[in-house]
Amino acid sequence: MRRIITKICRNCRDPFQPKPQARKVQKYCSRKACQQVRRQRKYRRWIADPAHKAAHQERLRLWAQKYPRYWRHYRATHPNYVLEDKYRRAASLKRQRMFRKATDWQQIAVDRLKAIQTSYPPSCSAKPTDLARRVDSVVEYLRWTVEGRLFRKATGIANIGGSAG
Ligand SMILES: [Zn+2]
Repeated sequence: MRRIITKICRNCRDPFQPKPQARKVQKYCSRKACQQVRRQRKYRRWIADPAHKAAHQERLRLWAQKYPRYWRHYRATHPNYVLEDKYRRAASLKRQRMFRKATDWQQIAVDRLKAIQTSYPPSCSAKPTDLARRVDSVVEYLRWTVEGRLFRKATGIANIGGSAG
């Protein structure tokens, strides 16, 4: 007979007994809320992977090729969907524009900080004062934060060192 094992749920941190058929892989208890979180996290991981996203889009494309009249028919028979889709697309476009705007602003911030650093290099005086050192480190820190944010956006890394698995 197998011994009963107890695990800690990754969401609610409560102990739980995994289902026998999934005792090795189950990481969340069977509570509805915890299962919802599990599915959400799985989906986020999946969607963040460019390879999966490309494969998914390719499948969709092939399916649409196979049934070319499906969406035309669906749209003709579902006027509410057409309206919702219109708003959804408009909202998506707006988000994209705002994202681009934010990225532009961050790029401007990086350029200005770089300009400060190049026009006042740290070695401009033989013995920098504490105040000069502090200003230098503040500029350095600002550049690091803004550039880091830009880099994460460009590479699509949502959070480094987040929960894996
Ligand atoms: Zn739980």
